[in-house]
Amino acid sequence: MAKEELECSFCGRKKPETSLLIAGLDAHICDRCIEQAHGIVIEESKESDSEDLSAELMLRKPQQIKTFLDEYIIGQESTKKVMSVAVYNHYKRLLQPPSNDDIEIQKSNIIMVGETGTGKTLMAKTIAKMLNVPLAIVDATVLTEAGYVGEDVESILTRLLQAADYSLEKAEKGIVFIDEIDKIARKSDNPSITRDVSGEGVQQALLKLLEGTVVNVPPKGGRKHPDQKFIEVNTENILFIAGGAFDGINRVISKRLNMQAVGYSASISDDVVDNDNLLQYIIPKDLKDFGLIPEIIGRLPVLTYMDPLDAATLRAILTEPKNAIIKQYKKLFSMDEIEFSITDGALDFIVGKAIEYKLGARGLRSLCEEILTDAMFELPGSDTKKINVTKAYAEQKISKNTIKKLKAVS
Ligand code: ADP
Repeated sequence: MAKEELECSFCGRKKPETSLLIAGLDAHICDRCIEQAHGIVIEESKESDSEDLSAELMLRKPQQIKTFLDEYIIGQESTKKVMSVAVYNHYKRLLQPPSNDDIEIQKSNIIMVGETGTGKTLMAKTIAKMLNVPLAIVDATVLTEAGYVGEDVESILTRLLQAADYSLEKAEKGIVFIDEIDKIARKSDNPSITRDVSGEGVQQALLKLLEGTVVNVPPKGGRKHPDQKFIEVNTENILFIAGGAFDGINRVISKRLNMQAVGYSASISDDVVDNDNLLQYIIPKDLKDFGLIPEIIGRLPVLTYMDPLDAATLRAILTEPKNAIIKQYKKLFSMDEIEFSITDGALDFIVGKAIEYKLGARGLRSLCEEILTDAMFELPGSDTKKINVTKAYAEQKISKNTIKKLKAVS
């Protein structure tokens, strides 16, 4: 073929009409067709993202999921194990090819019971991070039945859409963490609840989401945007994780255990009950006695509990997780070329104060802030290039007043 006769094999433009013509084995392609083809490739790869996601998800087996959780969360072995299996099964369910046997794998929504600050939110966050799916964290106390002052339950999905950058496809595979689920328990059964959040009505409304239906969601949420178009969100494949402290449930559990002991032979009453951690014996019926409606409990079939944090766990939380508090301070100081270290005595002191004043894991961070604020203010830009925090130094920075202040916020 003579040179001047060359043309793009895709659009037929002659070589002089193109800016660039690239030769292949038996054909040519011009710059415009390359750009167009590139656009198609980008579009297509967006569409196949969901398949990539699926493939990615399947790579981790339950034990690997747990190993990932171990990097960020100290202790809570039982919940980590239960969570790993639930998450694995959930995504297996998503990937199941349509089949004509009648076995439908049901959703493994999860409910975590445990004192505040024991890592429930952290657990949900870490799972979402691992799966690389959007996560919405919502507080059940702000939810109300439609028509009341507060947020409708649909707002949960608005948050999820926002977390997914408004990609419906991503949102529909996301995770919703509903915190303080215990605060919407029926009040009549539970004298410890004093706040009026119209308990049962909200539970009924939530049920709709948990069941897996198509919900009309206002993309911006609230009733301030009456003319916005609704987005239809299918909640069938959204993983719901609920968490709550369930203050007072220990009494419910203990009562049940005692009744069992009386009802059965002496051999059961001989079983040693660990009274310091009654939550480990929790069963769905306890949640019902606390005031959750049976339908909600049924839709949260995976029930798990968080262990209270003892001194050894708090100590480990300070230094061991991938983004442990102490590691963060080390990094912050190193950005100013300051070498930061802290003695074991100082760490024990911090843990001791957190326990003494019942500040929990959240208090660890506040205590560290109190101890290090002066250093973080004074050292950058000064000649001091090293700081070693000792027990004496920590003691000196923590006064009675600061503890009072920390107690008030935690
Ligand atoms: P909850 O949701 O149970 O109230 P969070 O997950 O918000 O508690 O925990 C509060 C903070 O305490 C977290 O940011 C985390 O740094 C720390 N924390 C709590 N429990 C653990 C744990 N088991 N391992 C590591 N960090 C923890």
